[in-house]
Amino acid sequence: RGDSTVADRQVDSVCPYCGVGCQLTYHLKDDEILFVEGRDGPSNHNRLCVKGRYGFDYPRHPSRLTTPLIRKPGVAKGLDPDFDPAQPLSHFREASWEEALDAAAGGLTALKAEHGPASLAGFGSAKCSNEEAWLFQKLVRTGFGSNNVDHCTRLCHASSVAALMECIGSGAVTASFMQAEQADVVILTGCNPTVNHPVAATFFKQAAKRGTKLIVIDPRGQALGAYAHQTLRFTPGSDVSLFNAMLNVIVSEGLYDQAYIDAHTEGFEALKAHVAEMTPEAMAPHCGVSAEEIRQVAREYATAERAMIFWGMGISQHTHGTDNARCLISLALACGQTGRPGTGLHPLRGQNNVQGASDAGLIPMVMPDYQPVSDAQVRSAFEELWNTELDAEPGLTVVEIMEAIHAGTIRGMYIQGENPAMSDPDLDHARAALAKLEHLVVQDLFVTETAQFADVILPASAWPEKDGSVTNTNRQVQLGRAAMPLPGDAKPDWWIIQEIARRFDLGWDYTHPREVFAEMQRGMPSLDHISWERLEREGSVTYPCPADDAPGADVVFSDAFPTADGRARFSPTVPLPPDEPIDGDYPTVLTTGRQLEHWHTGSMTRRAKVLDDLEPEAVASVAPGELRRLGLKPGDALTITTRRGSITLRTRADMLMPEGMVFVPFCYAEAAANVLTNPALDPYGKIPEFKYAACRLTVAQAI
Ligand code: SF4
Repeated sequence: RGDSTVADRQVDSVCPYCGVGCQLTYHLKDDEILFVEGRDGPSNHNRLCVKGRYGFDYPRHPSRLTTPLIRKPGVAKGLDPDFDPAQPLSHFREASWEEALDAAAGGLTALKAEHGPASLAGFGSAKCSNEEAWLFQKLVRTGFGSNNVDHCTRLCHASSVAALMECIGSGAVTASFMQAEQADVVILTGCNPTVNHPVAATFFKQAAKRGTKLIVIDPRGQALGAYAHQTLRFTPGSDVSLFNAMLNVIVSEGLYDQAYIDAHTEGFEALKAHVAEMTPEAMAPHCGVSAEEIRQVAREYATAERAMIFWGMGISQHTHGTDNARCLISLALACGQTGRPGTGLHPLRGQNNVQGASDAGLIPMVMPDYQPVSDAQVRSAFEELWNTELDAEPGLTVVEIMEAIHAGTIRGMYIQGENPAMSDPDLDHARAALAKLEHLVVQDLFVTETAQFADVILPASAWPEKDGSVTNTNRQVQLGRAAMPLPGDAKPDWWIIQEIARRFDLGWDYTHPREVFAEMQRGMPSLDHISWERLEREGSVTYPCPADDAPGADVVFSDAFPTADGRARFSPTVPLPPDEPIDGDYPTVLTTGRQLEHWHTGSMTRRAKVLDDLEPEAVASVAPGELRRLGLKPGDALTITTRRGSITLRTRADMLMPEGMVFVPFCYAEAAANVLTNPALDPYGKIPEFKYAACRLTVAQAI
């Protein structure tokens, strides 16, 4: 399969999985992808990880949806253990596009007519293109008539964005991860790049080999620990205590950058006073590390000429996720570690287009480019662009929408490419909400767990089948190109959204995503000087970009921050316990996340043969000592129970796990980790506490 002489065609595109945004080339024969190679993109330099290289065959999986489906009368909604997603006709019947679109939109328009705009909501997708995200949020805002539109950013970096917007006026990264190679010190906290951002991890390894000091701060160990100058494995949930203790060291030892603080920030004196009592000695007992280790790390970061902080969902997915990110921002501002090469703040984005989908407005409280829906001037500009009136009320977020369904407020939903029946916390509760919907339209590639609750299923396009732009974690806007035809009667996502919009009498008439992108440029200053034609020519342009012929800015905010007065703000934080601390009944910490081989809820990667062969089954990663304590061997069955439910799965001995903690990936429907997770929300980012739930481990007789 890897013989390039066999291929009859090559198409350049971008990887559909993580936020690194590796550029790649599909090698095809007879319209089928034979193999994939990395290209020399700015974020990958020809490299690909196992997902990008081998996860390309899912579009031709036998269970791929190729025709619209409508639920048969009398078939109850819900996950039916006897239902076979590859044989959906037991529960659904095939329909023409005309009938399916009329049914899909008809159910939504009827609910709106009877119960008003607030009775509808939509989830767009960070797996789709910028243009599709733009159209989806435009449909909800101008057709449904509310701001009830969200997507999976709510479950990954909503708290990071909340803190960044509050403190520095922008939710995107201040510098690319390639800048790590110019840094003297790099802090990696709450992230596991070799698993979740594998090609970015290669940049960190190279930086370490050239002399950059990597400092890994995380309760779990990780492969990059082998390259680390120092690791801090702290007690889960004690992040805010730890970071405040670091700030205390920086203040008490005078390691801050007064000139930078004076020129670029507000509120440092209040922060100084706030952290005065939070000495390493006072905080270390909560954090499970020594006071001296805290001092060392704080000194390394503060005294570096150039230092960067990278973080992931170990920081953001807590009820104190926004506070975690506020602390990291305070560290950077106090030490003047932004705005120069080799410095910066970088929340590593999860999905391939979570940055772009957020920029394009799939967020309930802001319009595209994070412009508040409550701002009359902002609304007025979009009302002029779209020739309609807009709702001034911020919409509901992902978990709030599930609650609103239970409360009877939300009655109908349109879900494009997301799988809340796997990705939401406290799944039994979330699935009960989906079952309660009076009308659910799901647009996807497969009959996902969520689609099993649908009234109408619309067969959509896989990434290698469509043209579209995506924006990666580095703010690089890149172009994906259609490489292969759509199977059967499946349709491009933008076309389907437009057909629904037409049935809301919106009169849309786009003929290609490039026309959508042109409209986006009129509403999104971030896309200034980045035309579709330029993307076709150059493949990747970073925003913000100062001119049509200039490169975009890899490092931003050198002179001023995008706040009203150009200054950043310190935001002091108070350590709070996790929402559900461990206790005698539930003495172990459950944490969840992704695996190298599988992507999010597994809807694509579990249908990619090589990837599913490598990791075919759910496993719980447990410290070897913990396994011995339980009397278990690797591979034995284990039941994990929380206050919300139980799952049983095999164990894997993991030397990198601390005792007292268990890790479960959330991509396996047969042992769905989110049955266990806590839906408690961070009050600012409204993100659930996926990274900490109290659980109990018991020996199971069998899987
Ligand atoms: Fe794809 Fe991310 Fe792997 Fe690159 S690192 S190949 S973008 S999954």
